[in-house]
Amino acid sequence: MTEDVHEVYAIRYGHHDRRSSVNFIDGDPHDALQPLDFFVWAIVGPSGVTIVDTGFDEAMGQKRQRQITKPLREGLLALGVTPESVERVIISHLHYDHCGNYDLFPRARYHLQDREMAYATGRCMCHRVTRTPFEVEDVVAMVRKVFDGRAVFHDGEGEVVPGVTVHHIGGHSKGLQSVRVKTRRGYVVLAADASHLYAHIDGARVFPVVYNVGEVLEGYATLKRLATSPRHVVPGHDPLVLKRYPAVKPALESWVVKLDVEPKDG
Ligand SMILES: [Zn+2]
Ligand SMILES: [Zn+2]
Repeated sequence: MTEDVHEVYAIRYGHHDRRSSVNFIDGDPHDALQPLDFFVWAIVGPSGVTIVDTGFDEAMGQKRQRQITKPLREGLLALGVTPESVERVIISHLHYDHCGNYDLFPRARYHLQDREMAYATGRCMCHRVTRTPFEVEDVVAMVRKVFDGRAVFHDGEGEVVPGVTVHHIGGHSKGLQSVRVKTRRGYVVLAADASHLYAHIDGARVFPVVYNVGEVLEGYATLKRLATSPRHVVPGHDPLVLKRYPAVKPALESWVVKLDVEPKDG
């Protein structure tokens, strides 16, 4: 393994059944069942482990009526990652499903965008519509990390370790960032909520939780530019990810999959 080439994994921890009509800003004529899965990602390389996003816990799942399929800690351990040993976490954005479990990584420093912290603590949180995807305790926990010297801020593009970079996309949340990882397959891009489903980036459609529609649409081109090919972009909430990419081992089927190999079609 050369010094900037990484392995990448998606760990599913949650699930939510919903209709396709609520997954797009202008609805969906089919109105079929189109569930969302909830993921955390692990990047493993010569500099150690970097975790992307921290999910939510059982209590938050109950509050938000989202199902926990496997607690995040179990998924990490199944992959051989002890949360207490993780030194780096990237937070794509501060929505409740991406920054909960905030005590799970006591040694980690957290990488996020200036604009996301400002957004989550500023005037837009006065409005119910823009506040809804955030949880005050999650945001306060991040403020505490800032004061503890455990936050690392990026403005636009930034390197986390050689071969792993963050890229401001905005759109869905003001400071949303996606993550580009150099792998043996080429550059894989973890979109997180820059594209919830393949249907969003493939069809230039927009998920209804949004700060700036124009930035969402422009973001799709950025994701494709960052990735070696459009097939290297991994959406943030699509159950198809578990079908297209192979499980790490049979016991982890539909739970932990490997993203640094070519996906199957379908
Ligand atoms: Zn989000
Ligand atoms: Zn999300």
